[in-house]
Parts: sequence; structure tokens; C-alpha cells
Amino acid sequence: MTQTEDRTLLSTEDTPLVPIEKVVALSKRRGFVYPNSEIYGGVSGIYDFGPLGVELRNNIRRFWWWSMVQLNDNVLGIEGNIITHPRVWEASGHVENFVDRLVDCKNCKRRWRVDHLPAENLEQNKCPACGGELTEPRVFNLMMETYIGVVEGERMKTYLRGEACQNIYLDYDNVLKSSRIQIPFGICQIGKAFRNEVTPGNFLFRQREFEQWDLQFFVHPSEMQKWFDYWKEFRFEWYKGIINHTDRLRFRAHGPDELAHYAKQAFDIEYQSIIGWQEWEGIHWRQDWDLSRHSQYSGQDLSYTDPETKERYIPWIVETSGGVDRTFLNLLLDSYEEAPPSGKDKEGRTVLHLHPWLAPIKVAVLPLQKNKEELVTTAKDIHNRLKRLMVAQYDDVANIGRRYRRQDEIGTPYCVTIDFQTLEDQTVTVRERDGMTQIRLTIDELPGYLVEKVTWK
Ligand code: ATP
Repeated sequence: MTQTEDRTLLSTEDTPLVPIEKVVALSKRRGFVYPNSEIYGGVSGIYDFGPLGVELRNNIRRFWWWSMVQLNDNVLGIEGNIITHPRVWEASGHVENFVDRLVDCKNCKRRWRVDHLPAENLEQNKCPACGGELTEPRVFNLMMETYIGVVEGERMKTYLRGEACQNIYLDYDNVLKSSRIQIPFGICQIGKAFRNEVTPGNFLFRQREFEQWDLQFFVHPSEMQKWFDYWKEFRFEWYKGIINHTDRLRFRAHGPDELAHYAKQAFDIEYQSIIGWQEWEGIHWRQDWDLSRHSQYSGQDLSYTDPETKERYIPWIVETSGGVDRTFLNLLLDSYEEAPPSGKDKEGRTVLHLHPWLAPIKVAVLPLQKNKEELVTTAKDIHNRLKRLMVAQYDDVANIGRRYRRQDEIGTPYCVTIDFQTLEDQTVTVRERDGMTQIRLTIDELPGYLVEKVTWK
């Protein structure tokens, strides 16, 4: 994958960190993200995705799937369900341990997660916002409960999954038996997860319903370090390839106090935005913990027998676990620019410099004038041809400069303008979003040119 070649990336010197409110406002105004149940006052930490949002999300998901499952011969995909047997969450430790410890400020009433408090505030029991006294910590379980069955008294209590990856452990043996794959191999899944986050916030960053992507890669213990290093680098390069500000991406190693007892090491891939350096994806050394626990709790033997050596062992696992929503948010924050007026653009413009592979609309087709029938008919013909190949939008409202700006604001990488010359020689103008450069192509060359530019490879 060479995702950044022939792209002009935004530089950190030219584009300061973007306030989240700007991205929230653009998202609502242009149909990326809306507050959920807004007419009833909304629900904190829950959002809906509008027409452009759903296109962007689908592209993000498909691109992850393509590069993780389709390109890696030793990785397969599954889609497990949100609801599982409740014992799953006992085995995973979530029923007992999936908790946040919380304190409230007695003065300003703000609520803090104990693990997010700066050390000195923790020691002095002082609110980071106003210096007021903090309450004793209270413990909250993050799992969302639900019930299976209709007859009162016979209903079974279970949970909406708190993390998507558990399905992978549950289906591991089925995948192994139903495909001819052998260790080392991986299973991927994208799916919803639910957490009763006690401090939801920062827009899509911490929600109560969100979507995760996971790879669980099963290895022989002797190869754990090799594969851990491999996937750690792979995932870092993956994120690097889809952003502008590659210097805002880093690894953070987990300290000894953060590591699970079975983990030799763990890293977060972090992105720096206006809310600081924050986790985007976790790379975890899970050893044999998950399959051992599920073997123990289910009574089913989940060990693996090497077909050649006949060695029997519980596979060790490298996990890479990230979020569709944090990717969505980070991409908006990373690509947003309010560009001042310049030689090519007299008024200044807001631009989303999204990677063309991920942009929700790939091309806009614009007749120069809407009252010239021949221009409109030709433009509609071109639009009809292009929309079979990619998401294409037709727009004939307002002058051409305004239409370019409307497309820049939603990250459309190419605009095709049909003008009077088109009627004479069958050529159109193709305008590129980032550099605002323009080239002239024949109508027949256009589909091939655009497919080459907006399709991942
Ligand atoms: P945090 O420390 O931020 O609470 P976490 O360590 O609990 O995150 P994991 O359980 O490792 O996160 O989840 C894997 C990924 O799922 C995270 O890297 C993040 O991208 C995403 N994620 C986790 N919680 C949320 C949430 N509440 N809203 C949106 N995305 C989330």
C-alpha cells in the first residue's frame, strides 16, 4: 500500500489543532453527524450519522476490511452478534472487572474518572477544574444489561457486548474447523460495542454506542514477539497512510501499572488533537488468556494441535483493537482546514483534505450554467455514467465558485465542469481539491482517470 504518494499533505506548521466545535458544526451543517434523538433533547454519548457520514463510515470500514482481510492471506473475517451467552462476560472478566472508579467535585459538581486525574489532584484530593474537594471514589460497571425471553421470571439476563472481540474467541474453533487455515492466522471483525461510559464526551471520542475493529492473531508462543512487532508496525503504517499530519501520530508504551498480568507489553497508537494525545488503537499481548478462560468456563477444549509436529497448545494472541468512530473523528480533525484567500481562491475556503479513497463523495459534476439545456444534458449524461462507478453528485445550483467551495467543505477530491468548450470538443475540466489545479480531459478519458485516482490499491 502506498497511500500517501501523489498527495499534498497539510503541514503541522500551517494548520493548528482544530477546535472540536468546528468539526461538530460542520458535521451537523453538512450531514455527517447528528445528535441522536435530538427532538427529544438528545442522549449524551450517542450519535447518528447523516448522508455524508454514512458514506465516510462505509469507506473507512471497507478500507480496513480490504487491507486487513482481503490483502492478508492468513486473515479471515467474521461477523458475530451483539448479544451472546451471559457466561461469555463472566469468562472475559467484564462482569467483575469492567468498571470505572469515579469521583465528584463537591464544589463545581464536575465528575472525573480516577484513572484520568492528574497525579497531584489525586494525591491532594482536589478537583482539576476548581480546586474543590473530591468525593470518595464510587465504582460503576460499564456493561449494558438486557434480557432474552418474554416470560417474566424465565428471562435470561445478558449484556450488549462491551467489546466486539469476544465473538472472535467464541468462533475461533468454528473458523479453524470450517476453513483450511492453520496457525499462524488471524480473525477480524468490525462491530458495535456498548459501554455505560460515565464520562462520555468530546463528540465521537467517547460514546456509549460505538464501533470497534479487531484483529485477533493466533500464534505459537515461540512466535509471539515476531508477530506482535509485525502487527504493531502494520497498524501504525496503516494510520499514517490515511492522515495528513503524520507527526501527530505516535506509540505510547503501557507502563507496568497499566499492563494486564499476562501481558509482556502493550502499546497505544495515539493521535494528537485539540484534546491532547489520545488512544486511537491498542496493540495488545494477550498471551493464552482469552482461549484459556473460555476453555475453562465453557468446558470445551480450545487447544490447537499442530498438524505436523502434533504439538498441542493453547494459541497465544496478538490483538489490534481500534475504533471506527475515533477514526472518523480523527480524520475530520486531521483534514479540516480554513484556508485564507489565495491567488487561486479569492474568498478563502473551508476544506476537508480527506484521503480521496475515503472521501464520501468522489466527484461532483457541475454544468457551468443551469439555464443552458445542452450543458445540463451533457452533465447529466456524465453523472449517470460516473455514478455507476463511484459516489458522484450532480450540482447546478449557484455560481461555479460557490459550488467548488461546497464540495471542498465536504472533502470531494474532484469536480468536473461542463462548459461551452465541452459542446465543441467533448472535453471537460477536472479540478482537484487540494491544489485547485485544473486539467482538461475528454469525456471518454474521464471514468478511467477518476477510477485510478479514487480507488484503493
Ligand atoms: P479508553 O482508555 O479511551 O477508555 P479503552 O482502552 O477502554 O479506551 P479498548 O477497550 O482497548 O479502549 O477499545 C479499543 C478501541 O475502541 C479504542 O482504541 C477506541 O478506538 C475504541 N473505543 C473504546 N471506547 C470507546 C468509546 N467509548 N467511544 C468510542 N470509541 C471507543
